[in-house]
Amino acid sequence: MTEFTKEAEARFRKEIADFVDRSLDEEGRRQVELGKPLSRNGFVEWQRKLVAMGWGAPHWPKEWGGTDWSLRQRFVFEEEMALQGAPHMVGFNTRMLGPILLTYGTDAQKERFLPRALTFKDWWCQGYSEPSSGSDLASLQTRAVREENSYVVNGSKIWTTYGHYANWMFCLVRTDPNVKKQEGISFLLIDMNSPGLLVQPVKHFYGQHVFNQIFFDDVRVPAENLVGKENEGWTIAKALLEHERLATSRHSEARRKLGRLIRMAKQTRYDDKTMLEDSYFRQRIAQLAINVRAVEYSTMRALEKYIDDGEVGFFASSLKLCGVAVNQSVDEAILDLLGPGSLPADSAYNGDIPVAGLVADAQFATEARYYMRGPAIAGGSNEVQRAIISKQVLKL
Ligand SMILES: Cc1cc2nc3c(=O)[nH]c(=O)nc-3n(C[C@H](O)[C@H](O)[C@H](O)COP(=O)(O)OP(=O)(O)OC[C@H]3O[C@@H](n4cnc5c(N)ncnc54)[C@H](O)[C@@H]3O)c2cc1C
Repeated sequence: MTEFTKEAEARFRKEIADFVDRSLDEEGRRQVELGKPLSRNGFVEWQRKLVAMGWGAPHWPKEWGGTDWSLRQRFVFEEEMALQGAPHMVGFNTRMLGPILLTYGTDAQKERFLPRALTFKDWWCQGYSEPSSGSDLASLQTRAVREENSYVVNGSKIWTTYGHYANWMFCLVRTDPNVKKQEGISFLLIDMNSPGLLVQPVKHFYGQHVFNQIFFDDVRVPAENLVGKENEGWTIAKALLEHERLATSRHSEARRKLGRLIRMAKQTRYDDKTMLEDSYFRQRIAQLAINVRAVEYSTMRALEKYIDDGEVGFFASSLKLCGVAVNQSVDEAILDLLGPGSLPADSAYNGDIPVAGLVADAQFATEARYYMRGPAIAGGSNEVQRAIISKQVLKL
């Protein structure tokens, strides 16, 4: 690892800015500007450009295509990518599956799946939630019965983000129904093209297709696709959720949005001054800037813990809570600044206001308002995170 001096940091930031400038096409730039996700192809192409730079999974070990960056360098990378308008990547491949296989996978599983996950030759999805098991995830019912060299899987998963893009799923299944619920769960890797597996869309109320429900009808999964030991999947499930929650701190997204808010406040006039000169709004921006900085420092602490101990622990819960809250409060400040100006951009609004002449800021603000409701629930709802903190951290 080379020393990351101030000069090296400035060079690194410039390298990132140049990379984003030359690598993000017009469509990608537009999507980020409007706060929308890329298309499937857009995600895959972007990831491959990152991989070509050696930046596809900075937190993986170098031998698997990661980096040997210091904590500070990793942090600067995430921050500068967001500031330059790089797309927020989906985390299933590199932030969830990767760390799990690196810790619990066999050598054969690592060799088979990690390189393809890195380059998105495989698109992974997460098969955790079920129609009757969300917050109480350990009550899951999807059943896997061992028959010779296979598991036969029956049941259903729901809220599977981008399940229609995926060709592989990491999945929690019940392998023993006769023990304490946490003790009968296993972690399986399932080929989405297996006979008996059905993907059905679950559309957002405003029409977008992100979620799916997945049905398993006697789906045969080779026993070699079991990660860790049979009936010990709950430990793996929890470790993966910690990685998911760490990624949900979205500190760099909040930093970029704050920049947008400040730019908009400079451009928006009320009476004879800009909103940045308005003492109330100025104070509000200052408080948001303090909160964003606090989440950044907390994220660094969590990364440090991960580097030192190989796990994030319950800290991930508070990080997720604060990160989502900070993002939502910046989104709200942007909406307040726009006032009724954001209404025509509201994709759930079916009134007569013409869509012509919409500004990107208004579209971004309304997208963000809907979008950030999701992270408050995904990976375990805010209420559940509070329950974890009160029990495990505060010992209440
Ligand atoms: C954007 C998004 C993406 C998602 N992607 C995926 C995915 O890819 N794969 C996947 O498997 N799942 C995914 N999920 C599902 C997510 O994990 C669940 O929605 C979440 O765990 C909550 O479960 P539930 O929806 O069944 O709500 P429920 O568990 O039914 O909870 C309903 C309400 O009750 C509250 N509640 C429940 N239990 C308690 C308690 N003990 N104390 C206090 N309050 C409680 C909850 O906070 C919530 O407000 C996604 C969800 C979202 C929003």
